[in-house]
Parts: sequence; C-alpha cells; structure tokens
Amino acid sequence: MLNSLRSIVQEVNAARDMKSALAIIVARVKQAMKTHVCSVYLRDPKGDYVLMATDGLNADAVGKVRLGAGEGLVGRVVVREEPINLEHAEAHPSYQYFPETGEERYSSFLGVPIIHHRKVLGVLVVQQVEQRRFDEGEEAFLVTMSAQLAGVIAHAEATGGVIPVGDKASQSKFVGVSGASGIAIGEAVVIAPSADLRSVPYQVCKNVDAEIDFFQRSLIAVREDIKTLGIKLKERINREEQALFDAYLAMLDDASLGGEVVARIRKGAVAAYAWSEVILEHESIFNSMNDPYLRERATDLRDLGRRVLEYLQESNQKARVYPDKTILIGEELTASMLGEIPKEKLAGLVSVQGSSNSHVAILARAMDIPTVMGAVDLPFTQIDGRPIIVDGYKGAVYCDPNPQLRKHYKAIYLEEQALVKGLEALKNLPCETPDKYRLPLHVNTGLMADVVRSLERGAEGVGLYRTEVPFLLRDRFPSEEEQRSIYREQLEAFAPHAVTMRTLDIGGDKALPYFPIEEDNPFLGWRGIRVTLDHPEIFLAQIRAMIKASEGLDNLRILLPMITNMQEVEASRALIARVYKELLEEGYRVRKPQVGVMIEVPAAVYLAPELSRRVDFLSVGSNDLTQYLLAVDRNNAQVADLYQAFHPAVLRALQYIVYAAHDAGISVSICGELAGDPGAAILLMAMGFDVLSMNATNLPKVKSVIRGITFARAKQLLAEVMRMSNGDQIREHIERELRDTGLTRLIRPVTSDSN
Ligand code: PEP
Ligand code: MG
Repeated sequence: MLNSLRSIVQEVNAARDMKSALAIIVARVKQAMKTHVCSVYLRDPKGDYVLMATDGLNADAVGKVRLGAGEGLVGRVVVREEPINLEHAEAHPSYQYFPETGEERYSSFLGVPIIHHRKVLGVLVVQQVEQRRFDEGEEAFLVTMSAQLAGVIAHAEATGGVIPVGDKASQSKFVGVSGASGIAIGEAVVIAPSADLRSVPYQVCKNVDAEIDFFQRSLIAVREDIKTLGIKLKERINREEQALFDAYLAMLDDASLGGEVVARIRKGAVAAYAWSEVILEHESIFNSMNDPYLRERATDLRDLGRRVLEYLQESNQKARVYPDKTILIGEELTASMLGEIPKEKLAGLVSVQGSSNSHVAILARAMDIPTVMGAVDLPFTQIDGRPIIVDGYKGAVYCDPNPQLRKHYKAIYLEEQALVKGLEALKNLPCETPDKYRLPLHVNTGLMADVVRSLERGAEGVGLYRTEVPFLLRDRFPSEEEQRSIYREQLEAFAPHAVTMRTLDIGGDKALPYFPIEEDNPFLGWRGIRVTLDHPEIFLAQIRAMIKASEGLDNLRILLPMITNMQEVEASRALIARVYKELLEEGYRVRKPQVGVMIEVPAAVYLAPELSRRVDFLSVGSNDLTQYLLAVDRNNAQVADLYQAFHPAVLRALQYIVYAAHDAGISVSICGELAGDPGAAILLMAMGFDVLSMNATNLPKVKSVIRGITFARAKQLLAEVMRMSNGDQIREHIERELRDTGLTRLIRPVTSDSN
C-alpha cells in the first residue's frame, strides 16, 4: 500500500492541471483499494460540495451533484471532519439519493474529509456493491491518501486561477507574505535555476523553424557528449551499465522523445519548455510503474532531461533582454539571482518559496524593491512575459491586472512616492522625541549601493554591515586584500561614525555558491561563528582585512554572529587579539576595535549578563532570535503566520537583554528587521535600546514616528503591551496608537481589500 500511496501522490503532483490531477486520484485510488467507485467532491465558492471527478459513478453527474455542509453523507463527513464508514449506506438517515449518479447499486460507503490548513476542501469517497464495512487498514489508507492530497488539491485549485496564455480577459490574484513594502507594476521575468526541469517558464516561440533547428542542434551536442562519456568510461563500467548509454541515445531519437518535443514546439512553446514537459510526463509514467527496475528508469530519464535542458537554456539566457519594469519571479530567488538584472530595470520581486525573513527579502528591503515571498500557489512557469502587479504591503501578486486595478495601484504608487519625498525633509533633523529623548538610528548595509542611500537618509552609523553579501556575489572567497578594499570603502564613507562589521555569517539560508553546506537542519547546523571558528584561516583573513582597513579612521567595531556559549567568545577574542598584535608588529598604526556579540539564540539571552561582562557591546539579531524562540523557520512560508515579531516571549526576551547589558554598563543595539518597523521602534526605544539599526528604506519612517511620540507615552505603551499575552493583540494595540497619532500611513498605505 505504501508504494501505491507514494506513486499516486507523485503522479498527482506531476499533473499539469486540476482536472487531470482529480482524474488520476479517482482512477488510482479505486485501483489501489480494489473498490467499485472512487469520487472526489470539492467545495465551490458558494460553500457547496460538488462532485468533481468520479471513477465508477455516472460521468454525466460530474459538476451536477452538489450538497451543502451537513447534507447527505458527504455533507455529514464535512461537518464531522472525520470519516464515515458504512456497510449499508442507504439505511443511514443522512443518505440522499441522486438518480443521475446511478449509485443505488452501491451499498458500502467510506468518505473521508480532505482538510488543508484546518479547512475542509472536500471529501474523498469510495463505494462498493457488496454490503461490507471497509476494514481499519482501508480506512487508514484513505485517510492518509486524503491528507497527502489535500495540499496538492489546494495548490492545484489556487493555481487553476491562471488563464491560458493569450486569453487576457481576467486577472488572477495570488497571496504570499510581504517581503519588502511598496508597489511595483511591470512585466514578469521568470528566472529558473539552470537545468531544473520543474521550473522552466512557458515562453512563446517566435520562430518555429529556427527553434526546431536549435533543438536538433542541442540534441546532437548531447548525443556527442553521451558518446564521449560512454567511450571514456568503457574500461571502467560493465556491459549492463554501458547499455544505459545506448538507451540514452535511443531516447533522443526523432521517433521518440525528440519527435514529441518537435510537435509541441510547432504548437507554440519554446524548446526548453516543450522538452521539460515531455520529460516530466514520461518521468511520471515511469514513476507510476510497479516494477522497481522500470521505476529506476525515471532517474535516467531525468538525468538525460537535465543534460539537454542545460544546452537549451544556456543560449536562451544569453539572449535575454530585460524589460524596463522587470518583475523578477522565481521558485526560490537567491541573493545572487538579483545581481543578474540591471538595477535600474528591477521593479519588483516574487519568490514562490521563502518568507519575509529570508535573506533575499532582507536584501530587497535594503534595495527598496517591492517584494512578495512565499507565493506558493503562483504558477510561476506559466506567467513569463505577462503583466504583473506586486503589492509588497499586503503580500499579493496580480497577474494580467485589469485597467481598474492598474489605476488603483498606480494611485497608491504615486501616494507612496509623495510620502517618501515628504520624509526627505527629515534628513538633517535629529531623531528625538518631542520631550527630547534622543535615539540614534543606524543602518544595516551589505552592498555599496546601501551606503549612498544611507547617507542620503541621515544614518548616524552602521549598526550591521553584513560582510557575507560581498562574499555571496563572487565565485570564490575574496582575498584579504580584496576584502580590505571593500571594507575600507564602508569605513571611509561613514567616518567618523562607527561601522559595525559582522564576521562572515554563512549557513542557514545563506550558502556561498562556491562553499556549499548540505545539511538536514541548516538553521540548527553549521552557521555563523561555528563555520569561521572551524576555519580560522577564513576568520583571520577577514579580521586582518577589517583592522587594516580601519587604519587612520578608527571607527571599526567587530560583531560576532550566532554566539551560543562563552567559549566561542573567548576563542574569537583570542584570534582578534592575535591579529591585532601581529598588525602592530607589522607596523600598522591601528586602534584596537571594540568587539561585540549578537544575541540571536535563546542561550545567548540567558547568558546576556555574562556575555556583557566579556564584550564591549551587544547587538540583538531579532530575526534569528524570533525564529529560535518561537521554533519557526524564518524561511518557511508554511509557518510564516507563526513568525510573530510581537510575540510576548520575544518582547520579554528583548527587555531582559537590555537590562542585562545596562547592568554591566555596556550599550545594546538591535539590528533585526524589527528595529525598522515603525510600531516596534517605539517599544524598543521605551525598552532602553541605545541604538536601532535598520535598512535605509525604513529609516525616515522610524525617525518620523519617534519624532511624533513622547518618550513618556512610549513608556506607557510598553507597560500596556508587556501585560498582554497575545502577539496579535499587541500588534493591534500599537497600530491603534499610530492611528490615533495620525501616523498610520507610515505602516502601510491602505490598499483596498476588495481586490
Ligand atoms: C538577525 O538575525 O536578526 C540578523 C540581523 O542577522 P541576519 O538577518 O543576517 O541573520
Ligand atoms: Mg542572524
């Protein structure tokens, strides 16, 4: 049974649309359970449960039979949210007879609810002629099947909203979470990691003959590769394995895969898309086979598929011309993908995976590019070249927006521009409350472009320079001298203000392309200081580069990420002291930098008193701290709702850290995204944080709220929320306060909910 389960789910997953997914479900479940009927009922927008697919009942009944919640046996399953298993269905008081189904012949009935995210999406039913009760094993099988299929059905339903290319009559909306606020109106450019068969975007082929020719040439090239590989390995592999190469070559024949692809190109798709479609379809056929040998062939096919795709994509990529308002869309956007588009053309970003605390979102906020993350239902392969609106406030994406919607968003866009212009006037005003409480605002940087924007917006220092950003944008570790020159630019630009440089913080979702770290639990694994202490050569070169770069400026502060124990602090301090001593001996006239630690994990919170006595300053990384306190992966769209920045446990931890630092007489700043949230900034100020560090985009907004509220009122507000035990309530309480002080516009403009 487990094999059937796995193969059904795989097949359904590979289905291109809802209708074929449902057809696979009913046919395969009926077959696996050896029943006479299998049907799926799904909830329609009116809340009725409609027969959507059946294998066994009268096919004409599809779309016609509908039941409300509580109505008939199907409706009973919906209300009870658990299976109903009957030996003699007709005898049940809820039984309803629908003549069009022809179901009077079936006595036994087993219906299980299809539940996704706590909502009953539908009911999966099997029926049998004989009067018998389905046994425990069968019931468990159907429940498991339904739980597995719920996500697939929800996804297929949501993606089904996209209309075929060419028919631009209606718009579709897809929901994710906000990655960076703002509105972008532009054209979709889908970026796919190379040779990934599942993420090849659909593109219309403009010249069929040339495309077929290009495809044939790619096949020839791959044939040659395979032949050469076969010859090279001849000595080392046995005859059976050699046969694999012949099989590969045969698959590339005109008569088989090649022929199918050509037919699809003639229908209008580009070669890369047509090829990926054909390979995926064949793969799913192999996957569904019961014979393990044949199932294994799916792997061969995928391998072959990737080889050809690589050729097809390589030349495509070179030819790419980016539209002026590019909305870059990808299954999982990464920091390095952003670098591929000229900055002036990049209007917005949409990532199917990830959440607002993924690093690509942080980078997007720093670059001020409206972004939606975790748009899991977006059929990203189908929308290349289509008009798109990104609502970075609400976390929504619109495909093929109609003129009214465009007008609506254009107006918000203009309003936003006016707000930014208005805030520019704050640049040279101090960040202080009306009752004269002064709160320095620093910026988080990583790119050189951040520097200019930060200075323009009146930053008083750098609270977090993410050194991994220049590392991410290269294809090897930068040398000590390269690093020195990059760091020098930062230090010089902000001098005499302090620049807090964090040592390399890779791991988690920040993998260097040239230093891959493969782990099951990357956020609980080898990241931050753990990596660099294990590789002192990387750490030492970086510290040398930083200290050398500070010569004559003396504005460097060094920050250590992901500290969880005192030993890491001692070991890092010893290495820093060693570098400093060596540089003095080498004749550099440098000042000893202050050293601080990031408080990002619960262990560091509880160690804050001891840490504060060993370092010069603390800086709270609230992004990670929230993730680790709440046990919510910051990168996982599935649990994004649970990532509550205003969770009372987070606020209590933050207050505790401030007390610990101040008791020891050192300063404490916060550089997580929370610091850039205008509502949160009020609370953080009241808690006693000495500095707030944020992206340059949010800095004027935060300054504006701080200048609009007295310190006394902020203290009161903090006391009020610290008594609350519900994160949503806390957020609402703060938003109400901002509304009352007329500062709501700084949180987000009102975007109509009717869309
Ligand atoms: C944090 O964790 O809050 C932080 C500032 O570091 P990063 O987001 O780079 O992990
Ligand atoms: Mg962090």
